Amino acid sequence: AAPVITIDGPSGTGKGTIASLLAEHLGWHLLDSGALYRTLALAARRHGVDLDDGAGLGRLAARISVRLEGERVRLDGEEVSALIRTAEAGVDASRVAVHPEVRQALLGWQREAALAPGLVADGRDMGARVFPDARLKLYLDASPEERARRRYKQLKDKEMDANLPNLVQELRARDERDRERAESPLQVPPGAVIVDSTELSIEQVFARVLQFVDA
Ligand code: C5P
Repeated sequence: AAPVITIDGPSGTGKGTIASLLAEHLGWHLLDSGALYRTLALAARRHGVDLDDGAGLGRLAARISVRLEGERVRLDGEEVSALIRTAEAGVDASRVAVHPEVRQALLGWQREAALAPGLVADGRDMGARVFPDARLKLYLDASPEERARRRYKQLKDKEMDANLPNLVQELRARDERDRERAESPLQVPPGAVIVDSTELSIEQVFARVLQFVDA
């Protein structure tokens, strides 16, 4: 099997950026697993499937096609990259992600991404569940305030609507759902290296990560 490096942690820790820098550095594939949950939630909204209906969402996942092409995401052929990046889409994603049927359906999609020469996988349960045999497991963390500030800046940079107090609240609700769900909750996977990025720039986090990759 192709080697895998997993990067887990809550949102706003710089996980996505670090995963993409690392994949580029190594010349490996990149899996943004959050994009899969976000896209399934979008499909559910479009097909009128209730976000609380686990069985229905599981069936929906089996009928749709989701393709990740670098930073782009396609749902049944249509590019939905911008649509799934809103704060609301993040909240929707965390609602569909609580269902065991959904997590099971997405397991296959995710494991199929482990192709030669290797994969950098970004998510919440990459090291704990999806790729338990990963060669290196990283866990990125940062304070909730700093994470909300980063999300705010990210949305503003993309000229999307953003409101800091709302973001703090959404982040908190999302974290709580991610940490407290019964199925594959967000957790530090056994054997993971923890990097706290609160006081670090992306360059500093990446430099630290590279030390473990090359070690
Ligand atoms: O990382 P991102 O913000 O795109 O993830 C959106 C939501 O998808 C997360 O809040 C989480 O509920 C869910 N998710 C998950 N497992 C993953 C990746 C994302 O449950 N591996």
